[in-house]
Amino acid sequence: MDFTAPKGTYDLLPPRAEAFLEVRAGLAAPARLAGYGYTETPLFEDTALFARGVGASTDVVTKEMYTFDDRGGRSLTLRPEGTAGVLRAALEGGLHKGQLPVKLWYSGSYFRYERPQAGRYRHFSQVGLEALGSDDPALDAEVVWLAVQAYAGLGLTGVRLLLNTLGDAACRPAYREALRAFLRGLDLDADTRARVEVNPLRVLDDKRPEVQAQLAGAPLARDLLCAGCREHHARVTGLLDRLGVVWEDAPTLVRGLDYYTRTTFEFQHDGLGAQSAVGGGGRYDGLSEEVGGPPLAGIGWALGVDRTVLALQAEGIEPAGAVGCQVFLVPLGATAKERAVLLLAGLRRAGLAADLAYGDRGMKGAMRAADRSGATYAVVLGDRDLQAGVAQVKDLRDGGQVAVPLEELVTTLEGKL
Ligand code: AMP
Repeated sequence: MDFTAPKGTYDLLPPRAEAFLEVRAGLAAPARLAGYGYTETPLFEDTALFARGVGASTDVVTKEMYTFDDRGGRSLTLRPEGTAGVLRAALEGGLHKGQLPVKLWYSGSYFRYERPQAGRYRHFSQVGLEALGSDDPALDAEVVWLAVQAYAGLGLTGVRLLLNTLGDAACRPAYREALRAFLRGLDLDADTRARVEVNPLRVLDDKRPEVQAQLAGAPLARDLLCAGCREHHARVTGLLDRLGVVWEDAPTLVRGLDYYTRTTFEFQHDGLGAQSAVGGGGRYDGLSEEVGGPPLAGIGWALGVDRTVLALQAEGIEPAGAVGCQVFLVPLGATAKERAVLLLAGLRRAGLAADLAYGDRGMKGAMRAADRSGATYAVVLGDRDLQAGVAQVKDLRDGGQVAVPLEELVTTLEGKL
């Protein structure tokens, strides 16, 4: 074959793919119970939505977007994250004019042109949620708690919650200025110096050791919080404590997207190597206006499905697989095959996981297929049995075999399984 999956992408094939289904369902389960409604938006959006919504100075926008012109000359971008598109859809659909907060969850594919490595792909999968239209700190606590529940529900015990607050439109400008003044005094390359002027918070996120080493002593957002932000953070952390959520104070956590205000958080797992972030999110009270909408507070998160699967593996947790085959039909001969097709439909209608030895294999090959299917029972249909109106039901665990009248086959197997 002349083709492979594009660099940085992967195929999900059985049986491994089942884990992804389970993880997506598990990550979304607490949000669904909490009244978040399922949402789907296009895989691509107007490029400007991400440039303005994610932030023109972020790595995501400057280096990682899959951007193309369509045949009508529009600049479109494969979504690198979920929040901007979901907010756009909520505003376009007028949801913000109804009951607030608007609570939405989603699950799907995201695209970033990143350097691929274990746990970092160019096409990856997230489950996310957004709560729009309220700046109530209790909502911050709910959103964080739902992610904690999502990981716990899958059985993970090694997920750590890092929590920070970044200030808001009132106090962020003074903080940015203080940070800029500090960063201007450091020994930085030209690109980073330019970033200091455009978006100094980004520099705090620089992973290079020579930059990190100089950042000790940088002013922290929380030292310059306005009274409103201080009060908000105190209430969020107080509620989390009362909910029994264990969190770590992370005063330098800024995360890769520009839109965060106030509450900002990340979930990390130590079993994944370099890519330890399994999920993250925060409040983005200015984002709606940034994309031309009305003032509308918001908070949300996105949890990485791929890295959650890796975290489960690291903890030795096997997500529940698909329902395995329970009954495998082995017809011997053309007449038996026709009968078997009808019996198979009857078994499946009754809700049993049943399959059939396709391809006219001999008894030996068909029984090997039955064993491989993982079924508990094989049903062997020979010509002589058919004439007598019975099938041989063989227990594949102990080899025991009984003749069962064809009209009783479904009820007999239902009773046994
Ligand atoms: P972000 O949208 O950057 O806040 O990312 C949220 C979560 O999505 C991260 O914590 C990761 O678990 C996951 N994620 C982000 N980028 C990638 C990627 N390139 N490959 C796999 N997972 C990713």
